[in-house]
Amino acid sequence: MFKTLLNLLFPKVCSGCKGILLESEDVVCTHCRHDMPFTQHHLIEENETYKKFYGRLPVEHASSVVYFHKQGIVQELIHNLKYRGKQEIGSLIGKWYIEDIKNIEVLQSVTEVIPVPLHRKKLRQRGYNQVADFGKALAHGLGADYNDDLLLRNTYNKTQTKKNIAARAEIINNSFDVTPTDHDKNKHFLLVDDVITTGATLEACGRALLKIPGARVSIITIAYAHI
Ligand SMILES: [Zn+2]
Repeated sequence: MFKTLLNLLFPKVCSGCKGILLESEDVVCTHCRHDMPFTQHHLIEENETYKKFYGRLPVEHASSVVYFHKQGIVQELIHNLKYRGKQEIGSLIGKWYIEDIKNIEVLQSVTEVIPVPLHRKKLRQRGYNQVADFGKALAHGLGADYNDDLLLRNTYNKTQTKKNIAARAEIINNSFDVTPTDHDKNKHFLLVDDVITTGATLEACGRALLKIPGARVSIITIAYAHI
């Protein structure tokens, strides 16, 4: 009763189109879900996301859930996820994707889901890593652990001061480190991020993880942006 009244006063709206959600709908309306540009990457082993890492990083599996188009539903969802605190978008897309990937054999061996870390300053400002709930949903569905302690973004490195500003920014943005213990050896890590563009960040993260003895790496992103 109270819930119904609350819904009347403050109707829940779709995170894709801002339309009012039916009581049976959650986060995204049925219309938006049907309009989502799903990649179907899970049906093709050597899909676009996988091919991004050819000659750059050995990956067991790589895929993205949806295509990112400017002005589209996905852009709206990612914006809401990143800047408006709508973390439930990440878990919803994660739960959808689990249905697609749960029978992919190579993913059965995933032991830990690792989010691409944010800079500490950005994490403080935003208060959450936008890919955390997506990663947790995948971890839950795959029976793996969610681990956001292992991979860390390097902070400013004084030895780089002589490089030019652009080069420095790239180094800082793409510098990651791992702090493994014996417990982290021989793991299959599933790296997760929100949008893949060049793949440079994920490549740098993957390289850091592959320094751990016996490590294997897979990659899943919410969206794939054509560049
Ligand atoms: Zn909608």
